[in-house]
Amino acid sequence: MFETLEYPVLNVKVHLFDEYKQWLINRLENKLSTHVITLNAEMAMLAENQPELANLINKVELVIPDGAGIILYLSLRGTKQQRCPGIDLAASLLAELGKLEKSCPICFYGGEPGIAQQAAQFWRKKVPGIDIMTNHGYLSPEEEVQWQKTLQEKQPRLVLVALGAPRQGFWIDNHRHLCPHAIWIGVGGSFDIWAGKKSLAPEWFRNNNLEWLYRLYQEPWRWRRMLALPQFLWRSLSTILYN
Ligand code: UDP
Repeated sequence: MFETLEYPVLNVKVHLFDEYKQWLINRLENKLSTHVITLNAEMAMLAENQPELANLINKVELVIPDGAGIILYLSLRGTKQQRCPGIDLAASLLAELGKLEKSCPICFYGGEPGIAQQAAQFWRKKVPGIDIMTNHGYLSPEEEVQWQKTLQEKQPRLVLVALGAPRQGFWIDNHRHLCPHAIWIGVGGSFDIWAGKKSLAPEWFRNNNLEWLYRLYQEPWRWRRMLALPQFLWRSLSTILYN
């Protein structure tokens, strides 16, 4: 029913399809445990130097092309693909799950205290009846043990984890066994945006693959991490030139 194409990006992979949301709904309906990683240039560069991150990205069920750098990498190789920002995919799933007849418990985990709760409030207003449990991402080791028990007991079917990349990916990998029928997505700063703490880049920046520039303006302390972008661009070109 769904044709999936796995495409190599440096030493990791990305999945190329037209319809990520429908694919995930299908997995959810069939109770298939799924880990979604949102790939951007920064993470692809990290994975070049961290074999454990590369292994994780290469083993998860779905890797979406979240960053503009990844789209550029693909287009340099003649492959056209639309960007799929993790926040948009998560939002479209939430809107869809809120409409389901059967109850579908959802979990928002991560962010500073109060943020996941505010993000859930935003969604409760948007989709009345949506069932969301929340917790923040600064738990003590004891609180985290308790939280794991809660997850096991409540069995959410969609778990959005905002602990920052790549940490959220490893956390999901180590805990996905707790809810074996769930879709798990690492969503980075999405709760901060839904909670109104940060704003999404304006349409023009998003449409022109310049979201990173807006992010740099909002969070200038990121400049060092963002050096991965030109490095990634250079790696993208050099693998074409020297291969
Ligand atoms: N965060 C968290 N616990 C931590 C470290 C970070 O919950 O120990 C949260 C942080 O509050 C923020 C998110 O993780 O909401 C990281 O977002 P960021 O924008 O840095 O994500 P990235 O784009 O780097 O994945």
